Amino acid sequence: MTARNIPSIDALLRQPAIAQKVAADGRTLVVEALRTAANAWRALPPGDGNAGEPAPWIVARAIDVLDGALAPSLRRVINATGVLIHTNLGRAPLARQAITAAADVARGYCNLEYELDTGTRGHRHVHTERLLCALTGAEAAVITNNNAAATWLVLAALGAGREVVASRGELVEIGGGFRVPDIMAQSGAVLREVGTTNRTRVSDYGAAISERTAMLLRVHPANFRIEGFTERPGLAALAGLAHQFHLPLFEDLGSGWLGLPQEGGWPDAIRDEPSILDSLKAGADLVAFSGDKLLGGPQAGIIVGRRDLMERVRRHPLMRAVRADKQTYAALEATLMLWQREAARTEIPVVRMLLESLESLDARARVLVKTTSEVVLEIVDGNSTIGGGSAPQSAIPTRLVSIRSGSRSASEIEASLRAEDPPIVARIHHDAVLLDLRTVDAEDDAFVAKAVARALR
Ligand SMILES: *Cc1c(COP(=O)(O)O)cnc(C)c1O
Repeated sequence: MTARNIPSIDALLRQPAIAQKVAADGRTLVVEALRTAANAWRALPPGDGNAGEPAPWIVARAIDVLDGALAPSLRRVINATGVLIHTNLGRAPLARQAITAAADVARGYCNLEYELDTGTRGHRHVHTERLLCALTGAEAAVITNNNAAATWLVLAALGAGREVVASRGELVEIGGGFRVPDIMAQSGAVLREVGTTNRTRVSDYGAAISERTAMLLRVHPANFRIEGFTERPGLAALAGLAHQFHLPLFEDLGSGWLGLPQEGGWPDAIRDEPSILDSLKAGADLVAFSGDKLLGGPQAGIIVGRRDLMERVRRHPLMRAVRADKQTYAALEATLMLWQREAARTEIPVVRMLLESLESLDARARVLVKTTSEVVLEIVDGNSTIGGGSAPQSAIPTRLVSIRSGSRSASEIEASLRAEDPPIVARIHHDAVLLDLRTVDAEDDAFVAKAVARALR
């Protein structure tokens, strides 16, 4: 084929399907797509590939290009992996109330930094602070973009140019490039390592304290566990030492478990999770954690603790670089309000997932198996996990839908589910596709059932 066989862009623009696209998407985008499609035609190997008429091929291809270019890249997916706080799938889903609150402030203006009583300038810090203090017993709170930023900010505000004492057993990498020694270096604080990988005592911290010391750092080694010959001081003992030298103790707690009592109790998987309340009670002066892990809110970093230290954190120039936006404040405040009322707490998806009973999951799985009426489906015991670097090895007993087929491999079925709209993300274990409905919104159960039937066809 030569270029002469290819119609001009003007001729292509007159094709009805293309004219429609021009009306909807504008001429510039469409012309660009037509050029891309025409080039693709030219690049076809000679012979069968480009033997037909170029115009219909180019038009169809240009429409594909336009649809692809205008489709959002970020899409909702159904998480059937059973990992509650799935970092790759966007961590905590928000409560309906949090979504409404965020949408309300997104739509227009709000009193983010405005005192409605006096008509004067205000501070964004006031939103959520009262609730966070009520829920944790802290004196003050600060919100940042995420917990990595919160940790960076505290180290910079209270530790820059001086030494921060931390245990070698806690110099962890959380994932996504968050390494405690690197964050420390970026903050301008000098890391003073004490103890060993498996054992650190209070006396190790004590021996490292000098006039250069700014604070003691404690990090929750959230995503791994050292077993065997280990020792880690209790937080109260460490706080006692810090306060003896008039130094603050800062704890990066990560998962943000409030540890509030709940009727019927929390699953065992969460039992060992250190709580913000316990940390503050034990004497930590500042505690930082994520908004979108076990708190079940929007992505945010939350720092709670002593008011005098918080003032220094707020005044640091980095505060401006890591501050959160109005939607985050709104969603976080709504989530905290749900935490405050025990009866409303299950409105928070993470809480609902933590508390959903085996009976309920089994019943949902049964409905799914029945609607698809496929003999290859069975319900088996398994475990959901918390994920997001929280509660390592945490296992919450669950009931899984196991899918096997004589005609399609597990990876083919998994890929079919992933090609659905919205895509369904599942896991494969021993040649079976496993669906854990704990992390699936019950409203999506019927869609999942239909998708499974399609995947087996
Ligand atoms: C998750 C985690 C972080 C990072 O929090 P982000 O909100 O993802 O920035 C930092 N420290 C610990 C201990 C964590 O578990």
